[in-house]
Amino acid sequence: MRFFRRSLITLGVAATLPTVVFVAVGAFYFLRAERARVEADTLGRSEIATMLVDGRLRRDLAALGVLTSSVDLAKGNMREFYFRVRRVQVANPAWRTIILIDAVSGQELFDLRRPFGEPTPLSEVHARALNDIRQSALPMAGSITPPPEKLAWVYAPVSGEGELRYVLGAGIEPQAFQDLLTAVAVPGTTAAVVDRQGQFVARTLNFESRVGTPATEFVRRAIREGSSGFYPGTTYEGLKNYTAFHTSSWSQWSAHLAVASAAIDAPTTWSFVAAALAALGTLVLGGTLVLLMVRDMAERRRAEETLRQSQKMEAVGQLTGGIAHDFNNLLTAVIGNLDLIRNRVKDNERLRRLADNALEASRRGAKLASQLLAFSRSQRMAVGPVNLQQLFNGISGLLAQSVGPSIDVRMELDPDARVVMSDSNQLELALLNLAVNGRDAMPGGGKLIISARRANVVDRHLPKGDYVQLSVTDTGVGMTEEVRARAIDPFFTTKPVGQGTGLGLSQVYAVARESGGSLYIDSEIHQGTTVCLVLPLAPADAVVPVAAPAVLEAAEAEPELVTKSAAVLVVDDDKLVRRFMSESLRSLGYEVRDTDNGVDALILLDAQRFDLLLADFAMPGMNGAELAKAAQMKQPGLPVLIVSGYADSAAVEAALGTARQLRKPFDMAELGAAVAELLRSREP
Ligand code: ADP
Ligand code: MG
Repeated sequence: MRFFRRSLITLGVAATLPTVVFVAVGAFYFLRAERARVEADTLGRSEIATMLVDGRLRRDLAALGVLTSSVDLAKGNMREFYFRVRRVQVANPAWRTIILIDAVSGQELFDLRRPFGEPTPLSEVHARALNDIRQSALPMAGSITPPPEKLAWVYAPVSGEGELRYVLGAGIEPQAFQDLLTAVAVPGTTAAVVDRQGQFVARTLNFESRVGTPATEFVRRAIREGSSGFYPGTTYEGLKNYTAFHTSSWSQWSAHLAVASAAIDAPTTWSFVAAALAALGTLVLGGTLVLLMVRDMAERRRAEETLRQSQKMEAVGQLTGGIAHDFNNLLTAVIGNLDLIRNRVKDNERLRRLADNALEASRRGAKLASQLLAFSRSQRMAVGPVNLQQLFNGISGLLAQSVGPSIDVRMELDPDARVVMSDSNQLELALLNLAVNGRDAMPGGGKLIISARRANVVDRHLPKGDYVQLSVTDTGVGMTEEVRARAIDPFFTTKPVGQGTGLGLSQVYAVARESGGSLYIDSEIHQGTTVCLVLPLAPADAVVPVAAPAVLEAAEAEPELVTKSAAVLVVDDDKLVRRFMSESLRSLGYEVRDTDNGVDALILLDAQRFDLLLADFAMPGMNGAELAKAAQMKQPGLPVLIVSGYADSAAVEAALGTARQLRKPFDMAELGAAVAELLRSREP
């Protein structure tokens, strides 16, 4: 479910990411195009402004040109000419004055603002204009005179006999150009018209105070270096602008229009904001993606590790299961035959003791085999409610005995963690294994605490539910990280040969897992170790069965001698076991026939009636359960006792049908009891 949800998120991110990137890129290009459009528009307007200005100047020059062909001027009648010019000036209200310059003497012959009189020296502005006109002898636009006069001048040359004789100049009110400029410039933006000297002729800002004065260095550099284009700059008022300009090739006057900053800055700002947002979004999404992937990978790795551990246990489990099975067969033969010997030498005290010693050792072997099988899982666990209080009470004596007097054993059981789901026998064995490990870790004595408490969040790999943490803590030597990592591996031990089997923690782990829980180990070197079994809490209404006696405890009953002879057919492929069973039963007074395979057994069944069939489960060809079915076809109602090693127990029980089961290893008394009970149950 979690993986599923994550892949959905991943999918969503994968779907949105290209859209976000596409929108961001689209917005960026759109805004850039918009900016280019606004710039082109402004540059166009600046060119139009210069055309309008030129138009105005040319019209004024044309009007002035009419005067140049005056007869009075040609004849040198200056006074008459003066009054004639004054009449023309009245018709052109934008002209403040008209002057006449003598190109030969370089003197000003008259100025309409003054009464006609003696010639005066030329002002600097007009002298410069005269110089320029001398070179081309064409009408031209001059420049503006500085305050307080503030007039924009145009000049018309007057020639006679191929020589430049006079120059007529008209001083135009700059307001005329100011009107043109405001008509062209976008309202609210800064704009100016500048003459050939770089002085303001018109200006949208502070026109009155700036007209006739030099423009900023930015403006003058721009017109020095090119005839049109854009330049950044700052106005006298401190406004930062990006300005388009165009210079007329005829008048050399130029128009400067700031690109509307709202139209430029906003798109730029927005494109930055959009790009930044897109980048941020992409980053966040990408980051989330990476984070999720990393977490997924970590989780997968953990899951794989758990799987690997189970597979390892599975493989070793199968192997040990097989070994233990054969081992059980051998032990059955050993124990059985020792039993027979013991019975025969009842009177010889010394021989009997020797037999007892050998039996004792064999039983220990059987215990080891059962440990092997416990973790090999072949011995099916009977999981049910287990009362920990009862379990503790039951093993406390044994525990104290196992760990010895130098270790202080304490049990702490929370009342709400009393009943768990597990197998009581296996759980007992697990606690004993842990206690023994604790003892081995505390050769100089110490404390061993067994505790049980409720836990909610324990392990992410366990299904949700209530759990109990059953932990065994010691104050011993602890484990290194390498030992801790391998501690539950089957056959891993750091103890000398004969002391460690390496199966203790494997069994504990198998119990935890089979109970639907888990196991973890906390350990610090020289501090101690806590092994924690996580077990499911039993439902509140669970009924705890009364504890049954442990499987391993061999019944100490005396063998029961039969009075009435019964015929038993013994089938086992293992010669030693078969012989032991036959011998045992014969000594108990039964009539016994035996064989090592199912086919021969069926032939014997055809020839003779038997009261009981005793068969091994695992045999080549026909197994015990199959033989039982075939035998009961021939002799309906025939009681069958199947002998099996633990390893088969789950499979055996499934295949048994009406047959009963006797687990290996067993001794003569157990065999006798099982046979007698089966025969009795048939009788009534
Ligand atoms: P065994 O006890 O037969 O060696 P176990 O499976 O019980 O096998 O333990 C495996 C190994 O883990 C031990 O040999 C020991 O090194 C280590 N170990 C287990 N329990 C403890 C503990 N309580 N303190 C220190 N080391 C431990
Ligand atoms: Mg151990």
